[in-house]
Amino acid sequence: MPQFDAIIIGTGQAGPSLARRLAQAGQKVAVVERKLFGGTCVNTGCTPTKTMVASAYAAHLARRGAEFGVEIAGAIKVDMAKVKARKDGVVALSTGGVERSLRAQPNCTVYQGHARFVSPREVEVGADVLSAEKIFINVGGRASRPAITGLDQVPYLTNSSMMDVDFLPEHLVIVGGSYIGLEFGQMFRRFGSKVTIVEMMPRLVPREDEDVSAAIGEILAKEGIELRLNATCIQLSRDGKGIAVGVDCADGPPQVMGSHLLMAVGRRPNTDDLGLDKAGVAMDPRGYILVDDELRSNVPGIWALGDCNGKGAFTHTSYNDFEIVAGNLLDGERRRVSDRLPAYALYIDPPLGRVGMTEAEIRKSGRKALIGKVMMEDVSRAFEKSETEGFMKIAVDAETRQILGAAFLGLSGDETIHAVLDLMYAKAPYSVLRRAVHIHPTVSEFIPVLLGDLKPL
Ligand SMILES: Cc1cc2nc3c(=O)[nH]c(=O)nc-3n(C[C@H](O)[C@H](O)[C@H](O)COP(=O)(O)OP(=O)(O)OC[C@H]3O[C@@H](n4cnc5c(N)ncnc54)[C@H](O)[C@@H]3O)c2cc1C
Repeated sequence: MPQFDAIIIGTGQAGPSLARRLAQAGQKVAVVERKLFGGTCVNTGCTPTKTMVASAYAAHLARRGAEFGVEIAGAIKVDMAKVKARKDGVVALSTGGVERSLRAQPNCTVYQGHARFVSPREVEVGADVLSAEKIFINVGGRASRPAITGLDQVPYLTNSSMMDVDFLPEHLVIVGGSYIGLEFGQMFRRFGSKVTIVEMMPRLVPREDEDVSAAIGEILAKEGIELRLNATCIQLSRDGKGIAVGVDCADGPPQVMGSHLLMAVGRRPNTDDLGLDKAGVAMDPRGYILVDDELRSNVPGIWALGDCNGKGAFTHTSYNDFEIVAGNLLDGERRRVSDRLPAYALYIDPPLGRVGMTEAEIRKSGRKALIGKVMMEDVSRAFEKSETEGFMKIAVDAETRQILGAAFLGLSGDETIHAVLDLMYAKAPYSVLRRAVHIHPTVSEFIPVLLGDLKPL
């Protein structure tokens, strides 16, 4: 039986970095990957989608060329095979890099296959049983398959199979009006498909504030995306060569006919076929591995990192899990998940950058707060670029003067939010940012302006 100091299951955003750190520290490490090196982000998540969002943006801007005085003869057409080829090229660089670096790492052995625990210290991969005193689980998640009537009778796409689409769907119907559904929806509309987004809730991205959801809805509707909200009783069936999606909404026809269906209704952890019962590792009812603030499971010697622990659902949170575990095990630090501030972006165009609490959460908490909001149409950089949709909103604790949260929906919102995030990590009062002199003309120069005009919430 091959003996190691550490076994890492899965090569998502935490596993490979941890493998390298442990191996460089002289530990004998086994890494197991069942499918694509680099996991979701690199192969079917962040990297390919943002690469495709860039193609969609190019098409969108080309169509708007005349507004900028740029004349393009003829209609703008998107070659989906080329969009896919460009995406495949970017993905290949990343996934190939992860695999090569692991295989080239001294003290590190790569196993390809599905890993399952057979005991708290042993993992089976094909014919091999590997053993180690420390086991790190970084198995990530996959698109969940909701209990929707008729789903087993129709062909449908997920974020993974969307990666093989090298043609233009005539009418893409997307079930799920949250982060993944909206990114695909806007991008395929810009590629030239008719797009309908079907959402059960009364608004898109229901976790965000109502004004954020409404502004996103307007941005998408303006581009010709049909939104079917309040779709309380979704049903699927075949309709000739296409798919009929029963939406049962109060407004609009009761059915949407589409040529292709994308299911984007959440993710579930890959913990159901991992033999966790053989190791005695505890999970919550949804299959997320229960961990403490330092990512240790209930079984000594077993950690869970990344999406499978339910403490984050992002590449940066998974990578931070690696930093926490490596810092605590190898660098004598005391790092914890609770030191992390919630932050993420939604990559429609313009993007939404988010940090901290929403306005609704602040109101619910009952604390005294100040709030500021500026519309992007008042931001000079935005109107110079003719990209004036959205707004920037920020909330401050009226007593501590520290920032509680912000939502920047607009040009460069995914970047500008970091000024706020860093101030929050510094635990500095908002007046530091209020007095900072930012570069003109940038979107960021409006953050001090925003903070200079706060009103009681
Ligand atoms: C469409 C889409 C877009 C996204 N966009 C963003 C974004 O813009 N920004 C962002 O921060 N996040 C984004 N995410 C989320 C992000 O991809 C994940 O949070 C991130 O990949 C972290 O995942 P992870 O490290 O937990 O594991 P993963 O990346 O999911 O990797 C897990 C790995 O474990 C392997 N594995 C699973 N089970 C086993 C087993 N039993 N044996 C061996 N190997 C196994 C899998 O094959 C996989 O390679 C997006 C996700 C999707 C789906």
